[in-house]
Order: sequence, then structure tokens, then C-alpha cells
Amino acid sequence: MGDELLAGFTVDTNGAWMGRRAASLGLPVRARFVVGDSAPDIRGALARALEIADVVLVTGGLGPTGDDITREVVAEALGRPLRLDEELLDELRTRWATWRRTPLPAGNERMARVPEGALVLPNRVGTAPGLVLDVEGRIVVLLPGVPAEMRGLFDGGVEPLLRQRLGDRLLPLVHRVFHTTGIAESSLAERIDEGIPENLGPVSIAFLPRLTGVDVRLSARATPDDPRAARWLDRVEALVEPVLRPYRYLAESGDIVECIAEEMTSSGRTLAVAESCTGGLVARRITELAGSSEYFLGGVVTYADEAKRAHLEVSRDVLAGKGAVSEEVARAMAEGVARVFGAGAGLAVTGVAGPGGGSAEKPVGTVWYAVHLDGRTQARRSVFPGARRAVRERSAQAALALLYRMLRSG
Ligand code: ATP
Ligand code: MG
Repeated sequence: MGDELLAGFTVDTNGAWMGRRAASLGLPVRARFVVGDSAPDIRGALARALEIADVVLVTGGLGPTGDDITREVVAEALGRPLRLDEELLDELRTRWATWRRTPLPAGNERMARVPEGALVLPNRVGTAPGLVLDVEGRIVVLLPGVPAEMRGLFDGGVEPLLRQRLGDRLLPLVHRVFHTTGIAESSLAERIDEGIPENLGPVSIAFLPRLTGVDVRLSARATPDDPRAARWLDRVEALVEPVLRPYRYLAESGDIVECIAEEMTSSGRTLAVAESCTGGLVARRITELAGSSEYFLGGVVTYADEAKRAHLEVSRDVLAGKGAVSEEVARAMAEGVARVFGAGAGLAVTGVAGPGGGSAEKPVGTVWYAVHLDGRTQARRSVFPGARRAVRERSAQAALALLYRMLRSG
């Protein structure tokens, strides 16, 4: 199996998952090794891991096939001879017979062999149990490679055991996340760096860019009830808040639609959307959230000029004179869709998603979006970077963000 991970046929999702869980549990991860199905490589990684860490989590290679050698190699390396656990073997036989209605194949009997002194964690999802070894005060955990089995054993066995054994030595990562939209990662980082002192105590700042915006995460390692960590986080939050304010939105899900829904619903307004280059993306995002029928009346995808004219009453002269990707057309679309649907608010997007269709004046990524709200229309132009999908996602987000800003200020 390790060979498949190294060749890139299987992505090491187990490593990412365990890393996240260990970090949130309060165990910072020092290193991750991926090795092939080779005894010397497994031995080497285990030795190195034991040099630098108190806890070593191993997954994969506990199964019945010839390439599953982890149990044997680890037992040998640690000088813990394997003993057949009769009780475990009986259990495996019984469960196998119930599931498959055949006797347990000989290869699977290996799974009942347990290194001397190991604690056995029963696997309720699959066959190979988890194994926990105490190695001169350090903990070595062997888990199967199948993700569902690994996770089940981690949740049911490993995590409680680590909490119990390491208790007060665990320093969980406490963090606060702020969602922003409409500002590039580099500009945001620059402005934040300007405004804060070098010493942030235990707090570190991470910038996490997404197509819809940049999340800023403040984190500190501390026990959850440590008041000092909370005070430091408060202090840093107060410093970054003025920079974030114009771009920030408060949504549990991280989706600005959540904020729009709240504003629209509480003010009793209704919304209709007209989309060209986003082809329905805005409507999809709005309707992905349950309860959108409270305010969302509907939308149209008007791709061709003729469709913009026929369905939204955008004038032929404006389309011919200014082109479909223009301020005038975006405004006319937003106003038209509000009128046609009888909605209080109208939102429109029209742009060049690429890869073709760009010109010197309107390069690929040029997008006009407009929002008509309470009798007023605002339009904005952006030139978004990236491939077609990125331009479409960014356009939808920019239009939604404009709507949200207008709702908030109105
Ligand atoms: P089995 O009893 O199924 O043989 P095992 O403990 O021997 O389990 P492996 O043979 O290493 O585990 O892997 C079994 C399957 O689990 C792989 O085919 C792969 O799909 C998945 N898997 C293994 N390791 C990982 C990993 N690190 N990340 C994601 N998936 C993995
Ligand atoms: Mg296997």
C-alpha cells in the first residue's frame, strides 16, 4: 500500500486526517513519513519517529496480503515477539462467518497475532484490530489503512487513550477565523503586518485564500480554560479588526449567502438574479441554503444578447453600443430582472469568463456586476485572475458581496 501512496495513485488522506485530529487534540505534529512496503524503510521511519516524538501513529499494512508487513516489521524492530491471541482469533472467526458465511482465510489469521504487551483495540468496521505499544514511555499506535477503519479506531480507542495518558501535557490549538471577501491575500497580509507589533505572544496568524475570499485565522496553543491565551487572542483580534472590517462577513458556514439570507429575510425583501457568464452559479449558491424561498423569487440565465433583450428588456441600442460586458448592460440587467420578477432587489453578472473572447479593452476575466436595491443601482467592474472556473466563482462571489454591502449599509 505504501507503494501506491508514493506513486501518487492513492492520496494520503489518512495523514491529513490524523494530523488535524492530533493538532486539535493538542499534539503538535513534528513530521509525517510515507514509506513503501519495504521492511528497511518501515524500520527507518519508525526509528526516526521515535527519536523525535512521544506518540507515533502508523497506518496501513495490517491486512492479510503479502504486502501488509507493518505488524511484523514493527514487532521485530521493537523486540516484541508476536503471539497468537486465541480470543481475538475466535472473535475474528465468528465475525467472518457471520459476514461472509465462509471460514476465515488463512491469511487473515495473521491479524490475530499481537506483539507482546500490546493493547488490542477492537475494530468494529473491519478485521484488523488497532494495536497500542508502550515503548519506554512513548506510545506507538498501529491502525489499519482503510480510512473508515482507521477513523473508527482513532475516535473509539486512540483519542480517549491519548487524553487519558497525556492529559495535562496536551495543548490544544484554539483559534478564531474571520472570513473576508473582496481583497487579495497579499494586500490583506501587507495591511495587517503594518498595523501589528512583532510580538504576538502565543498567537500566530494564517491567511487561507479561497476562490470566494481569504480567511484569516488566529491561533494559539493553550488549554481551553487558559485565560492568557484568550487575552492574547482578544488583543490581536482588536489589532486586525479595523483592517478586516470593510471586507469581513460573519457566517458560520463561511458562505456569504448565509449573511444575505439573514438580511433579506429579516427586512422582508425579495430578490431575483440575472446571470450571463456565471450561468446560474449565483442562483445555485443562493438556493443551496435551506430557507432561501423566504426571499429568493428566481433567476434567469441570459447568455445571448437576444435573451438579455427578450427576458430582461435590455435595449438593443445599449447592447450594440456598449457591448454585453458593460456597466450599462449590468445595470439594465439588474433593474430588468427586479422588474420582471416583481422583486425588491435585482442582481446581475455579465463578463468574459474565458479562455476565449477577451480583447484589449475587455480582457478575459473582465466582469461587470450590478445590484438594484430600494430604487438604487450600483455597478462594479473587476478583472479576475484565473481559469474559467475561477473567474466564474469569483464573479458570483463579487456580485453577492456587493449585494451584502448594500444591504448592510441601506
Ligand atoms: P487491509 O486489511 O484492507 O489490507 P491494511 O491495514 O492492510 O488494510 P492497506 O493495505 O495499507 O491497509 O490499505 C488498504 C486501503 O486503504 C488502500 O487500498 C487504500 O485505499 C486505503 N489507504 C491506505 N492507506 C491510506 C492512506 N494513508 N490514506 C488514504 N487511504 C489509505
Ligand atoms: Mg492491505
